[in-house]
Formats: sequence, structure tokens, C-alpha cells
Amino acid sequence: MARRKKIFEGKAKILYEGPEPGTFVQYFKDDATPVNALKKDVVEGKGVLNNRLSEFFMTGLNAIGVPTHFIRRINMREQLIRAAEIIPIEVVVRNYAAGSISTRLGIPEGTALPRPIVEFYFKDDKLDDPLVSEEHIIAFGWAGQQDLDDMVALALRVNDFMSGVMLGVGIRLADFKIEVGRVWEGDFQRLIVADEISPDSCRLWDLRVDEHLERDQIRRDPAAMPDAYTEVARRLGVLPSNVTHATKPTLIN
Ligand code: UDP
Repeated sequence: MARRKKIFEGKAKILYEGPEPGTFVQYFKDDATPVNALKKDVVEGKGVLNNRLSEFFMTGLNAIGVPTHFIRRINMREQLIRAAEIIPIEVVVRNYAAGSISTRLGIPEGTALPRPIVEFYFKDDKLDDPLVSEEHIIAFGWAGQQDLDDMVALALRVNDFMSGVMLGVGIRLADFKIEVGRVWEGDFQRLIVADEISPDSCRLWDLRVDEHLERDQIRRDPAAMPDAYTEVARRLGVLPSNVTHATKPTLIN
């Protein structure tokens, strides 16, 4: 049997050639994306949860007409996606100040922003993904003005969807990052949400107990990582069947 071709291996995922032209298989690893003070670099089960969560969010986005690369989940760790040419820009949307915007501009963490703020970061590990402006992106040819307008529109729709879904389960979406890819449909180019949408790329705050979930919580307590991911998946009802649920029957009136 021929071995499938690896297209790319990143920190958290591997891309393989897909079963038909124009598709890839995206494999979710357990490796943790580097976070300061994170001692463990592999978190068992994280890839399985992120595969499910990204499926959940992207299926919802597809259903409301926000195009994504997601086609279908194949198994616990793999999903079939549309092959897209990734624009080398990370698009971050912020609803509340935290992380680099708090440091850079001295805005206390947790401050509600006057409106969602969209930022662009140039994807370059060696440069540590620097913040860039539309001017840089256009001047250096990373994307055109129309692409930028489309990227902002996509990111804001993802923000509304994700904020609503999270609020429904008592979680505040402080900020998140997406990546955008180009696909061709006949003679038309279209931008779609690519990569993944998972707790790896979101900053999530628990509204019920005023605690931080995911990368924020992990910064404080690396050992909490699997619990935080499981909690997000549990609240959204997307735990894979092999993860044990609370087994007590619950009365629903
Ligand atoms: N983010 C990401 N990948 C990156 C950088 C940031 O997914 O390489 C996400 C991060 O999880 C957060 C948002 O983008 O939800 C904004 O991150 P920020 O610029 O505040 O950097 P951080 O403080 O998270 O390093």
C-alpha cells in the first residue's frame, strides 16, 4: 500500500494529501502550541478534542453561509478539508483587552473594547509573527485590498458566531485568531476560513466562575490544560464518545 504524502507538518497539525484533487487530510496532534511557562509539551487527548471542536465551529459557520475549508471529519484525529492557499496573515479579533494589546497599549486586561478590533499579524516564526498594518500587507504583496476587506468581513462574522455560541454556554470570547485561504471556484477566487478554530486559538473566560479557560488558564497552571479543553467541549456537547461524561442522570423539567 502506498504511503500517503505529507504536505506540511506544523506545531499542532499535519497536512496530508487528500483522497481527491483539491483536498487535504488535516491530522490533529497532541502537541501543545508553545505558551510561556508551559512545561508539558504534549497534552494527551488535545488533538482529539480540537478535531471535534474545529468540526463543530466550522460546521456551524458553513451552515450560516461563512465559507470554511471543513468538508467532513474522518476519524478521531483527522478531518477532510478543502485545499486552500493560505494567506500568510493571522487575523485576530478582540472583544476584550488581554495579551499583547494590553501590554502594547497599556489597557488593563478584561477591559471591554468599544467595538471588535481586527488586527493582522505576519505569519513568520523567525520574526515571532509581528503586528502589521494594511499598508504593509498591500505594499509587500501578501494580500490585496479586496482580500483584506473580505478577510475583515469574514473575521467579524466568525466573531459574531463564536461569541454567540460561547455565550450560550457561559463562556466569554475575549479574542481569537483565524487563518484565511484562497480557493478557486471556476474563474472566481474566494476566501474561506482555514486552519482550525479551537481553544488553541481563542482566549476564553468562564462567565460562571470568573476563571480563564484554555491558553490563559494554562499560562497560570499548565496542569489544567486537558481539563480546560474538556470543559469547553463538554459545555458545547461535543465530547467524543470515549471521554467519560458525568454519569449521573439529570432531571430535565
Ligand atoms: N493567537 C494564536 N496564535 C498565535 C498568536 C495568537 O492563536 O500565534 C491567538 C491567541 O490565542 C489569542 C489571540 O490570538 O486568542 C490574540 O493573541 P495575543 O496577540 O494577545 O497574543 P498572546 O498574548 O496570546 O501571545
